[in-house]
Amino acid sequence: MALIHRLDAVTIGQIAAGEIIERPVSVVKELVENAVDAGASRVSVAVEAGGTHAIEVTDDGRGIEPNDLALAVMRHATSKLAVAADLASVGTLGFRGEGLASIAAVARLDIVSRTASAQIGSRIVAHAEQSGVVEPAPAPIGTRVRAEALFENVPVRREYLKSPSAEFTRISSWLSSFALAYPTVTFTLRHDGKDVWVLPSTSDPRERLAMVFGTEAAQHMMPLDVSAARALDGTLGGFISAPGHDRPDRRLQVLFVNGRLLRSSLLAGAWTAAYATFAMSGRHPYGVLFLELPPAHVDPNVHPTKSDVRLRFGNQTFDAVRRSIAATLQAHATRRFAEHVGPGGISLAPPGFDAGRPHVQSLFEAGHGDPEDVPGHRLRVLSQLHRTFILASDGDALLLVDQHAAHERIAYESIVERAQAHAPSEALLVPLVVELDGAAAAALERALDLLREGGLEIEPFGERTYRIVATPAGFGARPFDLQGFIEDLTADVKQRDVRERIWASLACHSVTVAGERLEPDEMTTLVDRLQRCVNPMHCPHGRPTMVRLSPDDIARMFKRL
Ligand code: ADP
Ligand code: MG
Repeated sequence: MALIHRLDAVTIGQIAAGEIIERPVSVVKELVENAVDAGASRVSVAVEAGGTHAIEVTDDGRGIEPNDLALAVMRHATSKLAVAADLASVGTLGFRGEGLASIAAVARLDIVSRTASAQIGSRIVAHAEQSGVVEPAPAPIGTRVRAEALFENVPVRREYLKSPSAEFTRISSWLSSFALAYPTVTFTLRHDGKDVWVLPSTSDPRERLAMVFGTEAAQHMMPLDVSAARALDGTLGGFISAPGHDRPDRRLQVLFVNGRLLRSSLLAGAWTAAYATFAMSGRHPYGVLFLELPPAHVDPNVHPTKSDVRLRFGNQTFDAVRRSIAATLQAHATRRFAEHVGPGGISLAPPGFDAGRPHVQSLFEAGHGDPEDVPGHRLRVLSQLHRTFILASDGDALLLVDQHAAHERIAYESIVERAQAHAPSEALLVPLVVELDGAAAAALERALDLLREGGLEIEPFGERTYRIVATPAGFGARPFDLQGFIEDLTADVKQRDVRERIWASLACHSVTVAGERLEPDEMTTLVDRLQRCVNPMHCPHGRPTMVRLSPDDIARMFKRL
């Protein structure tokens, strides 16, 4: 019985034209996706000269019926989609019936396949859209597809190929990323007759994570906290690297939407926005996200070389991803803080104290536990160093607090809190008037509403002149650094989450600066308030707020350990 059929004209009309085979990795992608769609548990990829000479993919999947082989290499013939209506519920990676035909158009394709019910396999060769006759051939159950002479008939595309090693790198990185979503499938990669890597099947996705990202990198990855994604019409899962474990680029931010390895500049932005308040700017966390959405919400049907997937309800998805990543990072920061500083906030646990005890959790989760109520020695502020750092001790360890970073964190959280509570601003007795140049004025205009939400009220006061009439409550006494603030606003317009960016910047310019002398009681207040923050370890730009030197650290300095 033939399972593969040609799609009707209506359906063909509704799907975008042409899988484009651009380079060897595009062939690997089509063949490996077919193998996974066929239910394979082993997929072996072997390439020669980076795939520029030959690509062979072997699987142990369900195979192709002899009667179907000729159809398989024809355009718009598929077993995965019957009628146009099915487009809304595609459950396979392929569905256009174009993968094999597109490869055959630019390469010599040799397919040998056998289903479980067949005594012997069958073979077909297709080249430049001409296919030969189907012949019997001995074969194990499954399918082996070999593509050779790639782009021999399309010299222009051959010219665009990079060196075999560069093409091989693309194949290896695509295949290893793809493997993240299919941990139960064994993947192997061979190059010029040598095994390059093997990813044995595993039922534990974390093991696959370690195989792909490396054991060291995987150790710093944590499962995504998806409680913030409840509103999402679909599901979200994944693993992300902890704050401080990041990279200079986004290449290791892997995204799957409905099992397809895709790129989404929108979701890359969500990642950046969530990480922004934890990381030094310009650094990127790594990890993998698995998003399952109703097929109708994803358009896998965009032009195949367009690497950016289009999502319906993109804002909702952006938000779910951003909030989930932020919640995960937040929970991690809270845990680290408890481990680092002890249960009394900025104080150290007495010996034998079990940091896993429930009240520790609730204290930091609530974010405003009274430090007097919990066990632990109170922290004593000892001195201010260089008008920049606060030196403190609990009689055991030494703590160095960056006064500006700490104050920024406190201010940021209070701005966010007051914006959420719609708390009133504090009117200035004497409004501050500033005059700005055109670009700065334009940047300020765009931010005015968000600033008002954050408690900073600025109103136009003649041409390119503004006056600050109110500041976030509690910061009134400090001169607000509007010039610096506006420079920040204009410098970082790419940032996706404008709100957080603006508030972080507002916090930064509202507070104590390095070089400012602080009285002992001011330092004590600062340190006390820091410990009540939800994320006390980092300022909103991701710099650490404090460093702890334990007796062991100190002993090491004196070579006693
Ligand atoms: P699509 O994947 O969009 O259906 P393809 O041209 O890639 O289109 O494949 C055409 C058909 O050939 C598939 O629908 C499937 O029935 C069959 N096929 C291709 N590769 C395999 C494979 N490795 N194992 C089993 N069947 C396959
Ligand atoms: Mg396919």
